[in-house]
Amino acid sequence: MAKTTSINPYSGKEIETYREHTKKEVSEILEKANKRFYKWRETSFAERKELMLAAASELKKNKQEYARTMTAEIGKPITQSIAEIEKCAWVCEYYAEEAKNHLQNETVETDAQKSYTKYEPLGVVLAVMPWNYPFWQVFRFAAPALMAGNIGVLKHASNVFGSALNIEKVFKRAGFPENCFTTVLVGSNKIEAIIENPIVKAVTLTGSGPAGSAVAKTAGKHIKKTVLELGGNNALVVLKDCDIEKTIETCVQARFQNTGQSCIAGKRLLLEKSIAEEFTKKLLLKVRELKSGDPMDEQTYIGTLAREDLASELEDQVTKSIDQGAKLLLGGKRQGAYFEPTVLGDVTPKMTVFKEETFGPALAITTFEDVDKAIELSNDSKFGLGVSIFTKDTHAAEKIAYRFDEGAVFINELVKSDPRLPFGGVKESGYGRELSKHGIREFVNRKTVYIK
Ligand code: NDP
Repeated sequence: MAKTTSINPYSGKEIETYREHTKKEVSEILEKANKRFYKWRETSFAERKELMLAAASELKKNKQEYARTMTAEIGKPITQSIAEIEKCAWVCEYYAEEAKNHLQNETVETDAQKSYTKYEPLGVVLAVMPWNYPFWQVFRFAAPALMAGNIGVLKHASNVFGSALNIEKVFKRAGFPENCFTTVLVGSNKIEAIIENPIVKAVTLTGSGPAGSAVAKTAGKHIKKTVLELGGNNALVVLKDCDIEKTIETCVQARFQNTGQSCIAGKRLLLEKSIAEEFTKKLLLKVRELKSGDPMDEQTYIGTLAREDLASELEDQVTKSIDQGAKLLLGGKRQGAYFEPTVLGDVTPKMTVFKEETFGPALAITTFEDVDKAIELSNDSKFGLGVSIFTKDTHAAEKIAYRFDEGAVFINELVKSDPRLPFGGVKESGYGRELSKHGIREFVNRKTVYIK
């Protein structure tokens, strides 16, 4: 019988061993989910709203419990785990209030007596999710999906099965009917068969490019809709007229929060040459202040990476880049799953840390002479999730926003997700959108109704 053991990356100790669901159990879970769908879709928005608000209350009430599991599983600093749970409560409240508006029938004037578009749920949607934000990544799918009348089945990353079961618990404790949201505990090698099951109508995946591509391939073969939220290599474009102090604060947060393990983190710092020296000096002082330590300690800002192999991969990328000519300005050392906050200077587009996504606390600095070059450098990436531009001339920055090949342009702010705004990328960062009215409309049948 297949088993999965989760390891605390900070202590190196085993947390728990989970027995994976068998093929038969997975089939049963899907059957039950499907049965539930036909009842769930009959519920009104008001009924769903009440339950979703109860889920928000449950998250707030037991945030310590949920946060501690998350911190143990991935080494995420506890204050950031709590903030993540609170954000999940926000997305539940947002969709509880807004789902009905977002899915209103839309009347269209035609030759008919009456014709309109109606947004109907698809059924059982599979969510393949990553470990970096174990709750948030799931809730930003689950809240809109359930409010739209769909059913969620979660296949979470194998190192966060405790959080996966906790998420199921949130919906149970909130009073959702059984099987509205269930977790399958299986490895990624079992996903193909789940997608092939006719009960599963669509798939959403957040994770790496290879995982996204594998899921989309199987879903495509069976003509099933997918939404993919994959990696990113966001640039932080700093122009010479920016507010240096504020920009440094935002850039440090953009790169180092969640110990750098975020698809939308600002990974490449592009600095206008004339301010590069002063900016870098001040930035290094700030990065030095970031407190590393026990993730359960409230003073800790930098925890460990989620797994030792991820830290080792980052070490390889940093070492390769130094060999390629990058200058190590700070950090660079690994100890187990911990990786020091690291800053590399003199980075060029040919170097590994510029070309590849670095999923950890390592910032790559490249300088530029003018705005055109900054845009060229920013776009010199296979990813297209988002970019931040820092300048006092917000009007000029807004005017050049269209030249960035990205899903989002943030001016004087780090790229962040907000339930009210669409979230997603272009190029190899994926397709489709999460959050806002665009997210809830991904997994619906836009049915045309025509009455002559
Ligand atoms: P993966 O992309 O491999 O894992 C994400 C999810 O996809 C997990 O549930 C995983 O299951 C599943 N998965 C993995 N391979 C497949 C596959 N072939 N078919 C179907 N599902 C699959 O992330 P890793 O943990 O390996 O991290 C590697 C890199 O991915 C990171 O360093 C980072 O660059 C990127 N990443 C990006 C994220 C983002 O937010 N965009 C989030 C996490 C990672 P299982 O755990 O069982 O393998």
